[in-house]
Parts: sequence; C-alpha cells; structure tokens
Amino acid sequence: MGTLNPYQPPVSRLSEALSAELGGDCWRDGKDLVVRPGCTLPGRCIKCNEPAELPLRHARFYWHHPALYLVVFAGLLLYLVIALFVRRRTPVTLGLCARHLRRRRANLAVASVGAMLGLGVIAMGVQRDVLPVTFAGIALMLASLMFGIVGSRLLVVTRIGENYTRFRGAGADFLATLPAFYRTR
Ligand SMILES: [Zn+2]
Repeated sequence: MGTLNPYQPPVSRLSEALSAELGGDCWRDGKDLVVRPGCTLPGRCIKCNEPAELPLRHARFYWHHPALYLVVFAGLLLYLVIALFVRRRTPVTLGLCARHLRRRRANLAVASVGAMLGLGVIAMGVQRDVLPVTFAGIALMLASLMFGIVGSRLLVVTRIGENYTRFRGAGADFLATLPAFYRTR
C-alpha cells in the first residue's frame, strides 16, 4: 500500500527477491495474500481466523493474463483451448472454520436448487412454446451458476507469477497473523 510516489522505482522484483530471502511461504501485502505455490497456510479460517476444520483443504487455483479474455471475441472455443494451455496453476492447502464451511455448502445447495428449477422452467417454456418463460428459465439458471461460483470460491487469484501467487478474499484478521511481504518504501 503506501502513498503513490512518482519518483519511486519499480520495486516488485526487488521485494519478491527480498521476501524469498527472508524465508516462509505466505505473506500479507495490504489486502493481498501472497504465497509460494504449494504452500500450506496456517490452520485457521482464511475468512475469519477462527480455528480451521481439519483436515485442511487442498485447493487448486488457476490464472492467465487478463488480455487473453479478448480472444473470447474470436470464439469461445478458441479461448477455452488457449486458456487451457497457457493458464498457470497454484496448489494451496488452506483452512475454513465450521461456520464458513457451512456457509459455503449452503450457497452451493441454493445454487444447485436454483439451477435445477431453471432447467425445469426452460423445459416448461420449450414444451408450451412460450419464449418469455424459456428466457426466464435461462436467466434463473445463469444467475444460479454465478451465485454458485461466487458463493463457493475460497479465494480470488489476482496474479500467478513465476514464484508468487496473489489472492484477494482472505479475511483481515487472518492476514494480520501473516508476516508482511517485504516492501521498500
Ligand atoms: Zn471462518
């Protein structure tokens, strides 16, 4: 974080090198969680810092450069194939407390029911040949899928670099327990 200084040279490479020298494999950097791929986070909930339910969860996160989304305009399939090849992967072992585990499962259940209902409405619309009903079903299904994706995600990857992965979405209390990612001022 810190204030913006136009005379400050780019420091990200330097700070990454220094953090590597200091050891460890997970840090906080403002609101970001910064990890080395394959790291195991402390056994506390990444959202609220309460003790995590054991065993900890093995999660895999993917990222590619955002510019790749432009390929979607050339074709969704082309984008999917390229993204599959160029995406980077970071496995992380992390914890959630009982409360956040329950909330995640509840969100997934709501999303599943919503998607199923949407499918039913689509079928009804198609069967009775009523276009607005079909579209309502499609909207309900897409909304349920989005809700499921957002409601069940553990962390949001903002970048996977050569040595470090950055996440948003970890709780402030959890981040406060991690050492700070080295930053020159
Ligand atoms: Zn929690």
